[in-house]
Amino acid sequence: MKTLLDQLDEGILIIDKSLNIRYANEFSKKYLEEPEGKTISDALHVKNISVLTENLVSSTSSEFESEFFVNNERKIFKIKVNSPIIIFRDITEIRNLGEAKMDFVNSLVHEFSSPMTVMNGYLDLLIDRKDVPEKYNDILKRVHKSTRRLSKLVEELATLSNLELQNYKPIMENINLRSLVIEIIEELENKSKRKNIEIEVSIPADFYIKTDSLLLYRILSNLISNAIKYSFDNEVVHVKIKRKEDKTNIIVKDFGIGVKPEELNRIFERFYRASNAKFFKTSGMGLGLALVKHAVSLLNAKIEVNSSYMLGTEFILTI
Ligand code: ATP
Ligand code: MG
Repeated sequence: MKTLLDQLDEGILIIDKSLNIRYANEFSKKYLEEPEGKTISDALHVKNISVLTENLVSSTSSEFESEFFVNNERKIFKIKVNSPIIIFRDITEIRNLGEAKMDFVNSLVHEFSSPMTVMNGYLDLLIDRKDVPEKYNDILKRVHKSTRRLSKLVEELATLSNLELQNYKPIMENINLRSLVIEIIEELENKSKRKNIEIEVSIPADFYIKTDSLLLYRILSNLISNAIKYSFDNEVVHVKIKRKEDKTNIIVKDFGIGVKPEELNRIFERFYRASNAKFFKTSGMGLGLALVKHAVSLLNAKIEVNSSYMLGTEFILTI
């Protein structure tokens, strides 16, 4: 058993009743100096040590991330406590990679914004001018369509990085939910018409909800746009509400391709696209739901997803 535990790339500690470390595997000794025999708080200098010891004493299992210093180097551990066992993993690299990605996105947005503005501006000026021959006008229009698409992408990336910095302060006001949903559907009309998808809205005309309209708009427009994108042709998408005491569930349901169960817990990650996206050959960056997740947390709302592969998907937003 010991040989087996020593092969792992995870630290394993076993604690006795007085919170002393009785056993530490090989991996944990890379990070902790002679841990065996020490008390847990002497050996493990993580930030949330009090939570950890409380959980050990009360036998509650928990999982959290914590900073940890090894030879003055900052590490991030994912720690799982299930008394009397503690398992920890070094996730510093994964974290750094995530931060590097975000830095990259931020500079990309920054570098792209001004040339995009210039291009769009000049194209606006040139299109439909009398002295531009018809055949060139058509080409300009096509170029403009592409630059606009690119601008939209840059805008989305910018919003995502701003939301991540938590800069945005929600403004709560009473908004008419049905009007907001209709506005989104109209904006997505091109997409839904192309696939002949009908969007059925079951929301009373006089239903108001107190929330930030920009954030709710972003959430619902991403959910509805995904529902269209991952539906087969000629299908229906439902947008409806369910009221529960002081809460409202806004439900976006499609009968499309669905997500495989093993991929479902990753769809809210930045840049993650499940295998169904490849199957459908749809375009996208895997940013929509990452944006949704951040918007949902800014609203103190909740989002759940149920999906069956090949049968459909339902997102439930609780506000
Ligand atoms: P983007 O939104 O950036 O244009 P995207 O739609 O691929 O690209 P997300 O909206 O973040 O990215 O969604 C992530 C992944 O989750 C999608 O690539 C797809 O695999 C899956 N997904 C999201 N919504 C649905 C849905 N309604 N039905 C099936 N799969 C979905
Ligand atoms: Mg999307």
